[in-house]
Amino acid sequence: MAKKQFKAESKRLLDLMIHSIYTHKEIFLRELISNASDAIDKLYYRSLTENNTGLSREDFEIRLDINSEERILTISDNGIGMTREELESNLGTIARSGSLAFKKEKEAKDEIDIIGQFGVGFYSSFMVSSNVTVISKAYGEEQAYMWESTGSDGYTLTECDKPNYGTEIILKIKENHEDENYDEFLQEYKIRGLVKKYSDYIRYPIKMNTQQR
Ligand code: ADP
Ligand code: MG
Repeated sequence: MAKKQFKAESKRLLDLMIHSIYTHKEIFLRELISNASDAIDKLYYRSLTENNTGLSREDFEIRLDINSEERILTISDNGIGMTREELESNLGTIARSGSLAFKKEKEAKDEIDIIGQFGVGFYSSFMVSSNVTVISKAYGEEQAYMWESTGSDGYTLTECDKPNYGTEIILKIKENHEDENYDEFLQEYKIRGLVKKYSDYIRYPIKMNTQQR
């Protein structure tokens, strides 16, 4: 299938993430958990304003699944999810937090400044992943979609099956390389530590499931 191309400014931010030498790559988890929480907020808000959804606050959760053998870390939520169009516009064009600032500041300084100063959002997953798959089903829709990318050469968008609404972000964690350690992002204690460090304020339960080899 033909790959769709990222918009120019997204591609620049993405290239920066892929080739990042930034030492705080771990912030990707904070970004993905915050997106999951935002998505749940949106659905929770909807459940409060439309009182026919049958949803209550206790129904919502964020899940972290580690499969160390497959080198997969999955961040799932049962929030509002994304339609095909939303996957395309939200993930194909990052015209938001990170990239706009990046565009403005691109002459200046080094990547540390850029990553440190601005929220880099979803694309930060590419600092630790060789492949990112997003499976999402928008609340109230029948069809789920899969967005997949190995980086700046573009992405694919296809129909897929997903029983419930919400989003799964599936990260294929990079292999260790010289002094860059990625294995730690497949270790439960490390992930727990990162959740504590960056995501303690999240108001929904964050549940963990590990399949160790
Ligand atoms: P920001 O969170 O600042 O908007 P991101 O790059 O983190 O920027 O995310 C881009 C957009 O992608 C979000 O605004 C949201 O619309 C969508 N998105 C990302 N993750 C999710 C998710 N788990 N569920 C639903 N939508 C999401
Ligand atoms: Mg975000």
